[in-house]
Amino acid sequence: EVPAFNTLAVDCVAAPDAALLPRVPGLEDTLFTHDGTMTKQEVRAATLAKLMPMRGALLWDIGTGSGSVAIEWMRAARYARAIGIEPRADRRAMAAANALALGTPKFEIVEGEAPAALDGLPAPDAIFAGGGFDAQVFAAAWAALKPLGRFVANAVTLETETLLMQLHAEHGGRLVQLSVARAEPVGPYRGWRPSMPVTQWSLVK
Ligand code: SAH
Repeated sequence: EVPAFNTLAVDCVAAPDAALLPRVPGLEDTLFTHDGTMTKQEVRAATLAKLMPMRGALLWDIGTGSGSVAIEWMRAARYARAIGIEPRADRRAMAAANALALGTPKFEIVEGEAPAALDGLPAPDAIFAGGGFDAQVFAAAWAALKPLGRFVANAVTLETETLLMQLHAEHGGRLVQLSVARAEPVGPYRGWRPSMPVTQWSLVK
């Protein structure tokens, strides 16, 4: 019999072929149901580090997609809560299924688009912008963020990267470019398969 995952006493499973499910981000990509637009493991881990999950803290995950960032936030600290904002019904369904499968069923998923959908939500301790980011979304998010709150935005398009460069010039914080390449088969050999570089801007309020 396979012991329960992530009970108080057991933080991983010892059975052969069982997935290791650490509470430290990032989990393997294959543990999530996704459609390819998900933040990948290495970048997700770097993103959670900047978001700084804390006991009881609330995350807004704007453009939650498969919910991967919010789910890792809730797994990382006890009583951590998350609200995901996502306009697409198919992705909201994936996020809900992933939350259930990975032990964070209380994930609240809001239908709609930022900035309008942010109105009236409880003030967050951290905000991740992983989709639909623009200057209006930043203004609304930054205004709602609690003191000492963490803001992180990731961009893969030149348009969003340009905005992040402007916001960094204006507000400071940390701007980094993350480039990950994984070794993959090339015929009988192996080669580096690069992912698109991700530009990440982070800032503490
Ligand atoms: N954060 C996700 C990746 C999501 S891809 C993850 O890490 O797994 C970007 C997502 O943003 C898409 O699902 C898209 O539907 C959503 N999106 C686009 N515009 C948005 C907006 N204005 N408000 C909220 N979500 C938006």
